[in-house]
Amino acid sequence: MILPSDLAMVPFVSVDNMLKLVNHLGPRRMMADMVDYIEADFKRWETFDKTPRVAAHSLEGVIELMPTSDGALYGFKYVNGHPANMKRGYQTVTAFGVLAEVANGYPVLFTEMTILTALRTAATSAMAAKYLAPNGARTMAMIGNGAQCEFQALAMAEVCGIDTFRLYDIDPMATEKASRNLLQQGLTVVPCESPEEAIQGAEIITTCTADKRNATVLTDNLVGAGVHINAIGGDCPGKTELHADILHRSDIFVEFPDQTWIEGEIQVLDKDHPIIELWKVISGQEQGRVNDRQITLFDSVGFAMEDFSALRYVRDSVQKTGHYDMLDMLADPDDPRDLFGMIQRASA
Ligand code: NAD
Repeated sequence: MILPSDLAMVPFVSVDNMLKLVNHLGPRRMMADMVDYIEADFKRWETFDKTPRVAAHSLEGVIELMPTSDGALYGFKYVNGHPANMKRGYQTVTAFGVLAEVANGYPVLFTEMTILTALRTAATSAMAAKYLAPNGARTMAMIGNGAQCEFQALAMAEVCGIDTFRLYDIDPMATEKASRNLLQQGLTVVPCESPEEAIQGAEIITTCTADKRNATVLTDNLVGAGVHINAIGGDCPGKTELHADILHRSDIFVEFPDQTWIEGEIQVLDKDHPIIELWKVISGQEQGRVNDRQITLFDSVGFAMEDFSALRYVRDSVQKTGHYDMLDMLADPDDPRDLFGMIQRASA
């Protein structure tokens, strides 16, 4: 744990330092390590204080706060989701977050989380695929080739041994960008011109598109027996990616049901439809994939505990690598009651 001598100074990981950290450790290793952190936290699921994220919706998108605590540490993330941003030259998703000591409430880490969210989302996808994808899977279709795409591909390569990525996006420029980046990472890439072409021979189908509506990125006839669907992009009320018929043919795995019923693909189903909590699979209380004909669906929305695990991971990693600055973040006078005196002394 980082324990600066002056507790008012908080370790801060800027975008610049996050880039240094990712290049220092390597994105593949980072996401594999993050899988271990997330798995460890999912195994102690019941010790966490859990709540669906607090979302402020607008016509353009959503701004959310995602808090959780294990009783010793408290973490939260601020994150937005604005599908129209990309066309205006902004990120669809940006984020920052804080980790704090429960014992005194003081922050112990403040960090950018736009890059970290992409890493943790991909690590969570790969963790789910470890339990749900068919044995020996080598090929993934990636529908939606935006900001999250390469992270998803690299985590699946590192953790699940996927070596071929079939890419499709309604915007060919996005596919071109993702192909270029993934080829540079030594992966086999097949750019495709339709979702039908992309899913050919794929054992895993990842949908990662951004559109604020009930879209149909995948229709039922495209999904064959035995595949694993990793559905990332449907993560808001009124924002889904899959035709409902696919859900009826799948075994559906979720993060935190209270949140997924509001935000996930399952928002279109009756509330008594069976779903399986991923943490129960990871802790051995429920089965993941049981046969090679089963369609498994990870209805990912992104849950606060994954951010908490990522924050723990960054706290440990920057301590070892030194990629952080100290931020003058807390007003903390020597005499805790003399807050006003601090202002007077500063003016002298
Ligand atoms: P982005 O805007 O950078 O990329 C989205 C891509 O989807 C774009 O390239 C766009 O052209 C493409 N697209 C849109 N409709 C399509 C369609 N019908 N078929 C194929 N491609 C289509 O966004 P991003 O940062 O990559 O995020 C993608 C989605 O993932 C967003 O909806 C975001 O909210 C979600 N997300 C989820 C999690 C999670 O934990 N589940 C985490 C981060 C982001």
